[in-house]
Amino acid sequence: MTGTDTTRTAGTAGTRTAGTTRTAGTAAARDADPGSHLVLNPATEEVLATVPAASPAEVDAAARRAAGAQEGWAALAPGDRARLLRRFAATVDARLEELAALEVREAGHTVGGARWEAGNVRDLLEYAAGGVERLTGRQIPVGGGVDLTFHEPIGVVGVIAPWNFPMPIAAWGFAPALAAGNAVLLKPAETTPLTALQLAELALEAGLPDGLLQVLPGAGPVTGRAVVDHPLVRKVVFTGSTATGKEVMARCAAQVKRVTLELGGKSPSIVFRDADLERAAAATPMSFLDNAGQDCCARTRILVQREVYDEFLGLLEPAVTAVAVGDPADPATDMGPLISAAHRDRVAAYVTPDLPVAARGTAPAGPGFWFPPTVLAPADPGCPAATEEVFGPVAVVLPFDDEADALRLANAGRYGLSGSLWTRDVGRALRMARGVRAGNLSVNSHASVRYWTPFGGFGESGLGRELGPDAVAYFTETKNVFISSEE
Ligand code: NDP
Repeated sequence: MTGTDTTRTAGTAGTRTAGTTRTAGTAAARDADPGSHLVLNPATEEVLATVPAASPAEVDAAARRAAGAQEGWAALAPGDRARLLRRFAATVDARLEELAALEVREAGHTVGGARWEAGNVRDLLEYAAGGVERLTGRQIPVGGGVDLTFHEPIGVVGVIAPWNFPMPIAAWGFAPALAAGNAVLLKPAETTPLTALQLAELALEAGLPDGLLQVLPGAGPVTGRAVVDHPLVRKVVFTGSTATGKEVMARCAAQVKRVTLELGGKSPSIVFRDADLERAAAATPMSFLDNAGQDCCARTRILVQREVYDEFLGLLEPAVTAVAVGDPADPATDMGPLISAAHRDRVAAYVTPDLPVAARGTAPAGPGFWFPPTVLAPADPGCPAATEEVFGPVAVVLPFDDEADALRLANAGRYGLSGSLWTRDVGRALRMARGVRAGNLSVNSHASVRYWTPFGGFGESGLGRELGPDAVAYFTETKNVFISSEE
């Protein structure tokens, strides 16, 4: 089973009704039924499934079921909760190839990337399970008694996931939220609901209580808003665009609801003249082409010290053209398609004819939402391609003079998510790492995300942190209790 022919729509009218996705041949099927949406394979444009959307009434029913399930879950002994999460991880591991194949088909991810993503869900569940028994409070010295802190679950948590990394980003929210004793309502993106639906099935198969992790497919402005606005949902974890994130934050403010935002980025990769240029150039293509550039951490501003600018471009160009773009199911492929025709058009609009091209790869012709790897060398660092999140396989390369100039360019703009520094000078690496205003930096590397290190953005790239040693605690309320020892 791959999840495309029998998936469960959880939360329907307060029952454990097993809904079925339908395979549909044409867009006419959607017109006939606006309460559902089509899921397409972005590499072929073939229709994979029609998924019923959860209405606001169904979100309400799901939230009530979640609140009921949460009480029992939070009351379980920590060791039992941890054991069930480990079993969930083992179930994901046993179905890793199926999950990966589904991600290849619905999101166009390369099979290597998709395997990593399914493995990341497993690892997140195991890591979060380890946090259940370590969710210790503190004993704080006071006079006349003892003072203790407890990490209480928040209750029901809403996780609004995007389409770019449907499985891992959903799990960044649901794994620690469940470990902390919460229930989760997961709203996947309309374009990529299938892996989320399958993960909810696997949670049930592993023995997690019914209603504890429910997946509510549907459009953001309908189903997503209903999750955000529901009074039983006391925390929202949102990943997506900065514009939608601001709306989610405002709606959460109306109910003083906790909110974590992982939003856009325009991350720099800063190459100094003393760097190992060959190594930096070889690593650069996949720093902005991984997942076809649909990555909030993509290093889409390549800043190169002026003295080595031409030399670096000479090394970068063949590395970009060597990137294999094509069938994502082929293990030799480096980059697949973009998620949709509309998104491809949005990306293409940034590559205007007036912008000089420093390097350009190739992309397949025919069906599928393809766009070639492209490096632009704009004269104006303020042009949209150099300042806005393109979210496609497009980067710009810009020269800089010295550390101060590099910092000025790196810190320009409203984002501050990630960045890379390429230098052999340790002092410079430290000075720059402290100076760049971003949440996740790497030196002589493009690595950004590990489930055991904290992740999040400065500025308009986000609010709060996910992952890392405190991930489970982020899904709790701290309660302070004083016990008098007076007679
Ligand atoms: P959105 O921010 O609109 O979508 C992200 C998630 O939020 C989806 O599940 C979406 O549902 C949901 N959503 C949309 N509107 C609302 C709402 N009013 N209330 C609650 N949930 C909502 O991003 P897009 O998919 O439109 O992508 C646009 C751009 O955003 C991209 O080109 C990229 O620049 C950026 N982006 C950044 C991401 C990141 O990782 N930081 C991830 C995704 C996008 P649905 O899609 O079903 O409508």
